Amino acid sequence: MADLTLSCSCGTVQGMATAITPDSGTHAVCYCRSCQAFARHLQREGEILDPWGGTEVFQITPSQIKITAGADQIRCIRLGPKGIYRWYSGCCNTAIGNTLGASVPFIGLIHSFITPGEQRSQALGPVLFKVFGQYARQLPQSDSLHPGLPLKMLARNLPKMLMAKLRGRHKPSPFFSDTGAPVSEPQIIAKPGPGD
Ligand SMILES: [Zn+2]
Ligand SMILES: [Zn+2]
Repeated sequence: MADLTLSCSCGTVQGMATAITPDSGTHAVCYCRSCQAFARHLQREGEILDPWGGTEVFQITPSQIKITAGADQIRCIRLGPKGIYRWYSGCCNTAIGNTLGASVPFIGLIHSFITPGEQRSQALGPVLFKVFGQYARQLPQSDSLHPGLPLKMLARNLPKMLMAKLRGRHKPSPFFSDTGAPVSEPQIIAKPGPGD
């Protein structure tokens, strides 16, 4: 079980992801248009996206993340008023993670915020799912590529989320106060269109 260090690229926002093992979360790459639009909005496509437009995430609970420095630099955007909460650092536009809301024990922690190295590779394990492959820029060669969301992934994540909810793991969150207010007012930007 590992504690992974988290940092934005300029080092202002720092933290830890605690108790990480391959089984503690779900290691995935998302090719959806909204994840691509988020990277584009941050002007960090080269850093965030793989060559086919995928964003690598490790899906865990917000209570596993502690921010130890630079919390005042945490920013949020939503693609449309109902979009998921996409967090990044205001100091240097490093993508941090995606959350569904204050009451949902879920964050897709984005690889660009996790310090790379052998410890990270071992703690996250291999990528299990490549999702929304229908939106990939080109098709990566992969057995695990799925055009949408694979049932196997839901079968893995839903019980984990239910257990986490029962255990109250949506709190404490670095992104929402105890009353459920986002720590930074989300900026609403346009949703990507079908052709984007
Ligand atoms: Zn920074
Ligand atoms: Zn996505």
